[in-house]
Amino acid sequence: MTDNSRQNTFLNKQAQTNETPYLIDVDKANGIYIWDKSGKRYMDMIAGVAVNNIGHRHPQVIDAIKTQVDQHLHVMVYGEYIQDSQLALANNLSSILPEQLNCSYVVNSGTEANEGALNLGERYTDRSELISCKGSYHGSTHGSMSVSANEVKKSAFRPLLPLVKFITFNDIESLSIITTKTAGVIIEPIQGDAGVRIPNVAFLLALRAKCDEVGCLLIFDEVQTGFGRTGSFFAFEQFNVVPDILTLGKALGGGMPIGAFVSSQEIMQKLTHDPMLGHITTFGGHPVCCAAANATINVLKTENWIKTVDEKGALLEGIISSNDEVIEIRRAGLMFAIEMVSFERVKLIVDHCLENGLIGFWFLSCPNSFRLSPPISITTEEIEEAGKLILNAISATKNK
Ligand code: PLP
Repeated sequence: MTDNSRQNTFLNKQAQTNETPYLIDVDKANGIYIWDKSGKRYMDMIAGVAVNNIGHRHPQVIDAIKTQVDQHLHVMVYGEYIQDSQLALANNLSSILPEQLNCSYVVNSGTEANEGALNLGERYTDRSELISCKGSYHGSTHGSMSVSANEVKKSAFRPLLPLVKFITFNDIESLSIITTKTAGVIIEPIQGDAGVRIPNVAFLLALRAKCDEVGCLLIFDEVQTGFGRTGSFFAFEQFNVVPDILTLGKALGGGMPIGAFVSSQEIMQKLTHDPMLGHITTFGGHPVCCAAANATINVLKTENWIKTVDEKGALLEGIISSNDEVIEIRRAGLMFAIEMVSFERVKLIVDHCLENGLIGFWFLSCPNSFRLSPPISITTEEIEEAGKLILNAISATKNK
């Protein structure tokens, strides 16, 4: 196929999600790099949007996938058969989480993890009101979209779930809408799509206390912040607030599609009866994805990367903040929102970076910020190179 016919097939025979896709024609990927079919190399400074935390194609992940492929693929819907890779993942997840988060339900994506968590909250409390947070993004399926905040994205799909209300991030007074009618409160402990918003510890503590007071479940969506992204395995560890349900996705699979919601065995057992099989999935817990996820956790346990995330983030922040045009940098570990004056400015910078071999992005709910979430395996030299490319892009596009 010629380059043109490949692009034509992509644009016409594959459903499109926007009118200006990146159109990188991917040949291969390794570490922090992606190569296109012409041999051009890109530094992947968004890591497939916070997925490839341990870099592309980590050898331990590849080995685990190959071993599992030789053993078995799908054998049965989730929750019926005992499978090696599911057992290993369940144990490994428990080993990096507090005691009360000891039981995991494995699904295929972040949004499914959130759907499962919302269902579980409703089942456990026998209530149906859900509370979310302004600025939040929890996924594109109907339940997750209902508890997401971006009205531009939501309005075309109404009516969505009816009993959803929104608190304001970092506003303790707004917690008063959480009552004994509330089944669960879902929140990203560090908001991603809102443009990297960091919580006050007092806010999260008050939220935890309020959920305890009214008897509803606190759900932390760590689909984006999990697996080392913010400088600890999970962001909640930095705030000393443990949720009742934790949702995971993205980096969990080391490049394979997988999500999970994790809770206590006591809460999870609600899904086994009345009705039985009330929350099921055919492919959830796919053995190859579980094997990849298990290997990913092992890599993160043995490498020193998580400990270096904040230092690396500070290095990149220092380089980029030297440009006067940067209004603000909001950063949690290696999760960045670099605020510029407008989306138009961000788009020019993203395009210039792309031309010069660096992939960055923006946020749907915060389009005037340039987004970076590089693999946490990135080296100091790579950060310095990326920083230079970004500074060049900001100055080269200044008066365009
Ligand atoms: N939750 C958060 C915080 C996310 O950032 C995302 C995706 O960006 C999701 C949920 C949805 O995950 P997925 O795209 O795997 O469905």
